Amino acid sequence: MTKRLYYQDAWLKCFEAGVTGHRRDAAGYWLSLTESAFYPEGGGQPWDTGTLSYARGSLKVLEVQADETGEVWHRVDAGSEAELPPPGERLSGEIDFARRFDHMQQHTGEHILANCVWRLTGGFTHGLHIGQDVSSIDVTLPGGEMRLSQETLEEIEALANRRVAGDAEIVCRFPPEEEIEALPLRKDPTVSENVRVCMVGGYEMVACGGTHLSRASQVGLIKILSCQPARGKVRLSFLCGLRAATHYRETYSALYRASVLLSARPAEVPERVGTLLEKAAETERELRGVRREMTLRKVPGLLLQAVPLPDGGRLVVAELEAADTPAMEELAAELIGHGSLVALLSAPGEDRGLFLFARSGDRTEDMPGLMRECGVRGGGQPDFARGAGENGALDRAGAQVLKKNKQA
Ligand SMILES: [Zn+2]
Repeated sequence: MTKRLYYQDAWLKCFEAGVTGHRRDAAGYWLSLTESAFYPEGGGQPWDTGTLSYARGSLKVLEVQADETGEVWHRVDAGSEAELPPPGERLSGEIDFARRFDHMQQHTGEHILANCVWRLTGGFTHGLHIGQDVSSIDVTLPGGEMRLSQETLEEIEALANRRVAGDAEIVCRFPPEEEIEALPLRKDPTVSENVRVCMVGGYEMVACGGTHLSRASQVGLIKILSCQPARGKVRLSFLCGLRAATHYRETYSALYRASVLLSARPAEVPERVGTLLEKAAETERELRGVRREMTLRKVPGLLLQAVPLPDGGRLVVAELEAADTPAMEELAAELIGHGSLVALLSAPGEDRGLFLFARSGDRTEDMPGLMRECGVRGGGQPDFARGAGENGALDRAGAQVLKKNKQA
């Protein structure tokens, strides 16, 4: 069983160890060691990365996993077994401490946050997930509650940050078995032997085999990002430490830029954006009305220019500037209302235009079929079809209606 050096000292970056075994699987080559400061994936915390150096060179540690016997395996970037230091050889390991420190900040912050959730809501935290960008915990709230109010979330976050500022000492130890039952643990341990207990000051105590900071203030900052229902629990997403500081910088920078654009204070931005959105919706409504009016004004002219069809009907082919779908629909309805009329309308776009083909109820042309024949993608009813396609399709459609009518 590999001796886990991070149990005694989570700040240990370099160590020496002996090779105890090799293994190969689809992912690559793995080494086991007599002792290791590398944290194997577990408890929602990702594995450490780093390097292993030995007499003939060095290997990058890409992944670390513990097996069921407690052996810690290090997957390395070796291309063949010959590159691996043989069992018995000594080597020195160094972990990527920036990555580890980030994990320690998220993990230790989670202890404090879960404790505050429990104290203020009675919620039971199941597990931690430290993601690439965001960390989360799943919480079962008393009475099957599925949400936390904004006010409660703010209280939890404020208490958590007071705990951080309180700078309590963090101590991890393996208490004797008889002592464990009497300890006021926040939740029952998931293992029955070698239970390791992590204590934050006098207010938080839980069984945990992870890597922790030495003092609460090293967590720096705890920020709750969101709280969403998730499979009967609530999922609290959060950031701690330098991640939270980076998030603050980026978020404030975006808010500040928006406030300059709006000539408002940052706190006034949401209200100002709300007002702008209302104005934009109003302008959009007005614009639609103007377009409709402009489009309907074309009706007499279009009827005058209509092409007579051999069967006595009329054909209107019109390309409309600055028209939208509702305006085109109204225009089409207006035109075909005059009876025995086919209206082929388009509004040209940059490379594709909008098309609306309609006919009076006393005619038989199939409008979606006509669209297909002219390469316009769309559909609708036999007498009314909408679609989009290349701008030139309108003339082809007009020619097609004329040709079919002559043949009939
Ligand atoms: Zn822990």
